[in-house]
Amino acid sequence: MSAVGTLVVTDLDGTLLDHHTYQYDAAQAALALCRQRRIPLIFNTSKTLAESQALASALSLHWPMVVENGSAIHLPEPLEGEPRAVILGQPRQQLVAWLQRERQRAGFSVQGFSDWSVAELAAHTGLSLAQAELAQQREYSEPLLWQDTEHAFLTFQASARAQGFTLLKGGRFFHLLGQTDKGRATTWLRQHYHTRSGQPVQIIALGDGHNDSAMLAAADVAVQIRSPVHPFPPKPAAKRVIQTELCGPAGWAQALLSLLDPQPAAAH
Ligand SMILES: [Mg+2]
Repeated sequence: MSAVGTLVVTDLDGTLLDHHTYQYDAAQAALALCRQRRIPLIFNTSKTLAESQALASALSLHWPMVVENGSAIHLPEPLEGEPRAVILGQPRQQLVAWLQRERQRAGFSVQGFSDWSVAELAAHTGLSLAQAELAQQREYSEPLLWQDTEHAFLTFQASARAQGFTLLKGGRFFHLLGQTDKGRATTWLRQHYHTRSGQPVQIIALGDGHNDSAMLAAADVAVQIRSPVHPFPPKPAAKRVIQTELCGPAGWAQALLSLLDPQPAAAH
């Protein structure tokens, strides 16, 4: 596959980052190949901007980033006339206010990040305190730990929908957000790069969870990353679908190397 006009759009947790350790060492060879070919490597994550920027900075990446499950697209180096950020989601205060009203009204047993201290968030996620601090800096979504029955969840979900909100299932949490998802953001990115270059754009998207399905469906090549904790979600309706043998960052690297560099010189 030619690297010209190719975008790599990727989930982070459980995909580029190991589900348990949040490490990405196993992905180094593919990261290096993307860097060498100057292929845009675009995060599309439920993480916050602060968390995504910390990782991008560690990897010396300066590409656009989609954060909070398609709620906002940040363009670090906009051309003249382009915005710095495109907001597709809803402000978090509105989501949290609705959540509090729903709990009072129906007595749902559900907790959100806004109910927790940084230390509690670290304990729930396995993040360090410094990382949990960045994870708390949410602007457009509220991750939820559902502790009620399945039946109550369906009622809660219907109520969220009636309010114009979306509930997505992520790796560890449900995510309450506006009417957006990673797929809408991926379609926006395709149009953005097409307008910039005047060329057709080919998108390789990689993800491990249910909240990645819309992103994978919006791609030309959908890579489902094997998870150590759950089976593959249903196959997306993309032109080409690959399911990795290896989990997390090792599977991420294996798929990208075979797609971008069919005869890798650095095979080992
Ligand atoms: Mg994931």
